[in-house]
Amino acid sequence: MLLFDFHHHYFNSVSGIYNLGCGEELPPALFSAGIHPSETAENMEEKFRWLKEVSKNDKCVAIGECGLDGIIKPDRQIQEEVFVKQIEWANEIKKPLIIHCVKMFSDLIRLKKKANVPMIVHGFNKRKTIGLELLKNDFFLSFGKSALYNVNLQDFLSEVPTEKLFLETDTADFDLRELYELTARLKNTTPEELSKKIKDNLEFLKITI
Ligand SMILES: [Zn+2]
Repeated sequence: MLLFDFHHHYFNSVSGIYNLGCGEELPPALFSAGIHPSETAENMEEKFRWLKEVSKNDKCVAIGECGLDGIIKPDRQIQEEVFVKQIEWANEIKKPLIIHCVKMFSDLIRLKKKANVPMIVHGFNKRKTIGLELLKNDFFLSFGKSALYNVNLQDFLSEVPTEKLFLETDTADFDLRELYELTARLKNTTPEELSKKIKDNLEFLKITI
Protein backbone atom coordinates (compact mmCIF):
# COMPACT_ATOMS: atom_id res chain seq x y z
CA MET A 1 0.00 0.00 0.00
CA LEU A 2 1.28 3.43 -0.93
CA LEU A 3 1.67 5.79 2.04
CA PHE A 4 2.16 8.96 0.07
CA ASP A 5 3.69 11.71 2.24
CA PHE A 6 2.42 14.92 0.68
CA HIS A 7 4.91 17.27 2.35
CA HIS A 8 8.06 16.17 4.10
CA HIS A 9 11.62 17.13 4.95
CA TYR A 10 13.30 13.74 4.68
CA PHE A 11 15.90 13.95 1.94
CA ASN A 12 16.08 10.21 1.24
CA SER A 13 12.40 9.36 1.54
CA VAL A 14 11.06 7.93 -1.71
CA SER A 15 7.31 8.14 -1.18
CA GLY A 16 6.15 11.69 -1.15
CA ILE A 17 7.12 15.27 -1.88
CA TYR A 18 10.32 16.59 -0.36
CA ASN A 19 10.27 20.28 0.48
CA LEU A 20 13.31 21.81 -1.18
CA GLY A 21 14.52 25.09 0.25
CA CYS A 22 16.44 27.82 -1.55
CA GLY A 23 19.75 26.67 -2.96
CA GLU A 24 19.61 23.16 -1.46
CA GLU A 25 20.85 19.99 -3.11
CA LEU A 26 18.22 18.11 -5.17
CA PRO A 27 16.77 14.98 -3.50
CA PRO A 28 16.60 11.58 -5.25
CA ALA A 29 12.76 11.59 -5.50
CA LEU A 30 9.90 14.05 -6.05
CA PHE A 31 10.14 17.50 -4.58
CA SER A 32 8.50 20.90 -4.38
CA ALA A 33 10.42 24.15 -4.58
CA GLY A 34 9.39 27.48 -3.20
CA ILE A 35 10.25 30.59 -1.25
CA HIS A 36 8.92 30.33 2.31
CA PRO A 37 7.41 33.52 3.79
CA SER A 38 10.26 33.61 6.32
CA GLU A 39 12.73 33.96 3.44
CA THR A 40 11.15 36.96 1.80
CA ALA A 41 13.33 39.64 3.41
CA GLU A 42 16.37 39.61 1.16
CA ASN A 43 18.05 38.44 -2.08
CA MET A 44 14.72 38.03 -3.84
CA GLU A 45 16.11 38.29 -7.34
CA GLU A 46 18.56 35.50 -6.69
CA LYS A 47 15.89 33.35 -5.06
CA PHE A 48 13.50 33.75 -7.98
CA ARG A 49 16.27 32.88 -10.41
CA TRP A 50 16.88 29.69 -8.41
CA LEU A 51 13.15 28.89 -8.24
CA LYS A 52 12.56 29.31 -11.96
CA GLU A 53 15.50 27.12 -12.80
CA VAL A 54 14.89 24.29 -10.35
CA SER A 55 11.11 24.11 -10.83
CA LYS A 56 11.51 23.20 -14.51
CA ASN A 57 12.93 19.86 -13.36
CA ASP A 58 10.53 16.95 -14.03
CA LYS A 59 10.83 15.79 -10.44
CA CYS A 60 9.62 19.15 -9.19
CA VAL A 61 5.88 18.51 -8.91
CA ALA A 62 4.72 21.66 -7.10
CA ILE A 63 5.64 25.22 -6.16
CA GLY A 64 5.96 25.70 -2.41
CA GLU A 65 5.84 25.78 0.36
CA CYS A 66 4.97 29.42 -0.08
CA GLY A 67 2.31 31.66 1.36
CA LEU A 68 1.61 34.08 4.17
CA ASP A 69 2.61 34.05 7.82
CA GLY A 70 1.14 36.55 10.27
CA ILE A 71 3.47 35.84 13.15
CA ILE A 72 6.92 36.15 11.59
CA LYS A 73 9.05 39.16 10.85
CA PRO A 74 9.05 39.87 7.10
CA ASP A 75 6.67 42.67 6.20
CA ARG A 76 3.22 41.40 5.14
CA GLN A 77 3.20 43.53 2.02
CA ILE A 78 6.49 41.96 0.91
CA GLN A 79 5.31 38.46 1.82
CA GLU A 80 2.26 39.02 -0.35
CA GLU A 81 4.32 40.28 -3.30
CA VAL A 82 6.60 37.26 -3.16
CA PHE A 83 3.62 34.93 -2.83
CA VAL A 84 1.78 36.47 -5.78
CA LYS A 85 4.91 36.16 -7.93
CA GLN A 86 5.04 32.45 -7.07
CA ILE A 87 1.34 32.06 -7.92
CA GLU A 88 2.04 33.63 -11.30
CA TRP A 89 5.02 31.36 -11.87
CA ALA A 90 2.98 28.29 -10.91
CA ASN A 91 0.31 29.38 -13.40
CA GLU A 92 2.96 29.68 -16.07
CA ILE A 93 4.52 26.26 -15.55
CA LYS A 94 1.18 24.67 -14.60
CA LYS A 95 2.23 23.15 -11.29
CA PRO A 96 0.10 23.18 -8.13
CA LEU A 97 0.94 25.35 -5.11
CA ILE A 98 1.73 23.97 -1.65
CA ILE A 99 0.68 26.61 0.87
CA HIS A 100 2.05 27.62 4.24
CA CYS A 101 -0.47 29.87 5.99
CA VAL A 102 -0.49 31.18 9.55
CA LYS A 103 -3.23 33.52 10.73
CA MET A 104 -3.79 35.03 7.29
CA PHE A 105 -6.49 32.83 5.83
CA SER A 106 -8.74 35.64 4.59
CA ASP A 107 -5.80 37.09 2.62
CA LEU A 108 -5.02 33.63 1.30
CA ILE A 109 -8.60 33.19 0.10
CA ARG A 110 -8.50 36.63 -1.55
CA LEU A 111 -5.28 35.75 -3.40
CA LYS A 112 -6.52 32.35 -4.55
CA LYS A 113 -8.43 34.11 -7.30
CA LYS A 114 -5.08 34.79 -8.96
CA ALA A 115 -4.25 31.08 -9.23
CA ASN A 116 -5.18 28.93 -12.22
CA VAL A 117 -3.65 25.87 -10.55
CA PRO A 118 -4.79 23.93 -7.46
CA MET A 119 -3.72 25.14 -4.00
CA ILE A 120 -3.06 22.71 -1.17
CA VAL A 121 -2.86 24.08 2.38
CA HIS A 122 -0.28 21.91 4.09
CA GLY A 123 -0.21 21.08 7.81
CA PHE A 124 -3.82 22.08 8.34
CA ASN A 125 -4.59 22.15 12.08
CA LYS A 126 -6.93 25.09 12.49
CA ARG A 127 -10.55 25.51 13.51
CA LYS A 128 -13.29 23.78 11.57
CA THR A 129 -14.81 27.13 10.46
CA ILE A 130 -11.54 28.01 8.72
CA GLY A 131 -11.32 24.55 7.19
CA LEU A 132 -14.87 24.74 5.83
CA GLU A 133 -14.17 28.18 4.38
CA LEU A 134 -11.08 26.80 2.62
CA LEU A 135 -13.03 23.84 1.23
CA LYS A 136 -15.75 26.18 0.01
CA ASN A 137 -13.04 28.02 -1.91
CA ASP A 138 -11.80 24.80 -3.49
CA PHE A 139 -8.55 24.35 -1.55
CA PHE A 140 -7.10 20.92 -0.88
CA LEU A 141 -6.08 20.25 2.73
CA SER A 142 -3.13 18.20 3.90
CA PHE A 143 -3.14 16.95 7.50
CA GLY A 144 -0.15 16.01 9.63
CA LYS A 145 0.76 14.84 13.09
CA SER A 146 -1.69 17.07 15.00
CA ALA A 147 -4.57 15.03 13.58
CA LEU A 148 -3.32 12.08 15.65
CA TYR A 149 -4.21 13.73 18.97
CA ASN A 150 -6.37 16.82 18.31
CA VAL A 151 -9.97 15.65 18.67
CA ASN A 152 -11.51 18.78 17.15
CA LEU A 153 -9.29 18.37 14.15
CA GLN A 154 -10.30 14.70 13.90
CA ASP A 155 -13.92 15.76 13.97
CA PHE A 156 -13.31 18.08 11.01
CA LEU A 157 -11.12 15.54 9.21
CA SER A 158 -13.99 13.06 9.27
CA GLU A 159 -16.00 15.55 7.19
CA VAL A 160 -13.34 16.55 4.66
CA PRO A 161 -14.22 15.08 1.26
CA THR A 162 -11.63 12.43 0.40
CA GLU A 163 -11.10 14.05 -3.00
CA LYS A 164 -9.73 17.15 -1.22
CA LEU A 165 -7.42 15.33 1.18
CA PHE A 166 -3.72 14.58 1.63
CA LEU A 167 -1.62 13.34 4.56
CA GLU A 168 1.91 14.33 5.49
CA THR A 169 4.67 14.09 8.07
CA ASP A 170 6.17 17.58 7.53
CA THR A 171 9.07 17.87 10.00
CA ALA A 172 7.52 15.51 12.55
CA ASP A 173 8.96 12.10 13.29
CA PHE A 174 6.15 9.53 13.41
CA ASP A 175 4.83 6.58 11.44
CA LEU A 176 2.63 7.93 8.63
CA ARG A 177 0.84 4.56 8.57
CA GLU A 178 -0.75 5.52 11.89
CA LEU A 179 -2.25 8.64 10.31
CA TYR A 180 -3.52 6.68 7.30
CA GLU A 181 -5.14 4.16 9.65
CA LEU A 182 -6.74 6.81 11.84
CA THR A 183 -8.03 8.80 8.87
CA ALA A 184 -9.47 5.67 7.28
CA ARG A 185 -11.26 4.87 10.54
CA LEU A 186 -12.66 8.40 10.78
CA LYS A 187 -13.98 8.09 7.24
CA ASN A 188 -15.36 4.55 7.60
CA THR A 189 -13.06 3.15 4.99
CA THR A 190 -9.88 1.06 4.85
CA PRO A 191 -6.33 2.43 4.66
CA GLU A 192 -5.99 0.71 1.26
CA GLU A 193 -9.08 2.43 -0.09
CA LEU A 194 -7.90 5.77 1.31
CA SER A 195 -4.50 5.28 -0.26
CA LYS A 196 -6.17 4.68 -3.63
CA LYS A 197 -8.23 7.85 -3.28
CA ILE A 198 -5.12 9.85 -2.48
CA LYS A 199 -3.48 8.42 -5.58
CA ASP A 200 -6.45 9.71 -7.60
CA ASN A 201 -6.00 13.13 -6.01
CA LEU A 202 -2.35 13.11 -7.07
CA GLU A 203 -3.42 12.26 -10.58
CA PHE A 204 -5.80 15.22 -10.49
CA LEU A 205 -2.82 17.41 -9.61
CA LYS A 206 -0.94 15.77 -12.50
CA ILE A 207 1.62 14.32 -10.10
CA THR A 208 2.92 11.03 -11.42
CA ILE A 209 4.39 8.73 -8.82
ZN1 LIG B 1 7.34 21.80 6.00
